[in-house]
Amino acid sequence: MRVVRTVEQLREALDYMRMGGHTPIGFVPTMGYLHEGHASLIRKAGEMSRTVVMSIFVNPLQFGPSEDFSSYPRDERRDLELAEREGADIVFIPAVEEMYPQPIRTRITVDSLTAQLCGASRPGHFDGVTTVVSKLFNMVQPDYAFFGLKDAQQVAVLRRMVSDLNMNVEIIACPIVREADGLALSSRNVYLGSEERTQALVLSRALREARKAIEAGAVQTVDQARGLLISVISSSPLAVIDYVEILSFPGLGALDGGSLLSGAEGEVIMALAVKFGRTRLIDNNVFIPKEVHALV
Ligand code: AMP
Repeated sequence: MRVVRTVEQLREALDYMRMGGHTPIGFVPTMGYLHEGHASLIRKAGEMSRTVVMSIFVNPLQFGPSEDFSSYPRDERRDLELAEREGADIVFIPAVEEMYPQPIRTRITVDSLTAQLCGASRPGHFDGVTTVVSKLFNMVQPDYAFFGLKDAQQVAVLRRMVSDLNMNVEIIACPIVREADGLALSSRNVYLGSEERTQALVLSRALREARKAIEAGAVQTVDQARGLLISVISSSPLAVIDYVEILSFPGLGALDGGSLLSGAEGEVIMALAVKFGRTRLIDNNVFIPKEVHALV
């Protein structure tokens, strides 16, 4: 495994792989503090590619002024061990000055899809994501790029960016990896105190209960599903809801007539953002209503 810190070194390492015929190239962008969710992306990249590139970069552009950029957890030594163990070939760890040597005057914006969910709660966040991912795509020029459905809106936004701008890369969405008790893995889980950690289970429980109620036919509308999600989440006294939304996926629009059966061909996302103390957690479930109802 090669660790590179400059764009020049990265391009050299990639040229070497391409010259040796080690293609396709799979790319896994991360902010580090790696866990089993990231590991699952590296493994998937390894299945589909002959060279796996991972980046570790905490991108200041995607953090709001009152967010956790400076306190975001970092542990390079442990990250490199995990990356090597899971089969990464090249790890790119640029300094902020390497990624942004001059004030950035060019930004990529995907509109409409970024107006709701995390885009509404975190203004400017997705511009930061699409801008840095565009830069990374230009540096790596991967055939495939792997992203987790934990950040489902990010997947929808990046797919649209790639399509709108004819970028020559395929976005591969990978399933959410959870702890045994249901909590979706996140680098930010380390912020949780033990009582918060226990109560945070309410997110995955709410999604499971809503799915069950939809599958049983007991819940058929967006309002009913939202009501159920909110009541389960509210059973946890420490939970402060940021949003609970049910939208089409990946279009992120309202469902026709508020029915979970409308647009039955497409997918639906139940998306949650909930704060426990200073920690904001997100979770979601994407499903195809038609298939769920076929189970009834
Ligand atoms: P991050 O380091 O949090 O920016 O995440 C880097 C990539 O890992 C993103 O594509 C995330 O969606 C993905 N990821 C983070 N947590 C999980 C998880 N629990 N399951 C699957 N993918 C994840």
